[in-house]
Amino acid sequence: MSETNQIIRYGDPVLRRKAQPVKKVTPQVRDVAERMMDCLERAGGLGLAAPQVGCGLRLIIYDVGEGPVAVVNPRIQQSTGLVEAVEGCLSLPRLYGDVQRAEQVVVKATDLRGHPITIEAQDLLARVLQHEIDHLEGVLFVDRVNPATLHWLVGDAAQEDPQQRVQTTLEDALKVFEARQASHTAAEE
Ligand code: ZN
Repeated sequence: MSETNQIIRYGDPVLRRKAQPVKKVTPQVRDVAERMMDCLERAGGLGLAAPQVGCGLRLIIYDVGEGPVAVVNPRIQQSTGLVEAVEGCLSLPRLYGDVQRAEQVVVKATDLRGHPITIEAQDLLARVLQHEIDHLEGVLFVDRVNPATLHWLVGDAAQEDPQQRVQTTLEDALKVFEARQASHTAAEE
């Protein structure tokens, strides 16, 4: 499997594969986590899963403003409440829509030293964890999105113009990514 410093976009089959458990936290696993942290920092996202950098291991990272945290073999042990809120994904840039998620989760995992950890999360962190753990099952937010809320954000946030919200359908949005993926693959050959 090719590993990359680029975040893999929708249309690449790696995003649909189920990730495998990390048997032991080796230096290679820590390298992947570090690479993911670099990618996340550059992209300015809230979380990233190993399949998004071409690695088929059950490893995610998140950063909700207090620095990056790596989580190995995460599993949701408990979830409570339901809340719908807007979500996006670094593998589907500029596409957003509302997704219903549990409001609070308890996640069991290990850290990068191989020690067991428990994360009790709510609100934004709970959402990020559920989104990233979905990636390990090959599930993307567009599989769960409320289609009536799906939209592109166009325009540059750094410019004076405010970002425009452009409504789209799931079918049209996925076609855009599939077409980009096809031209990207063709350009590599
Ligand atoms: Zn994502």
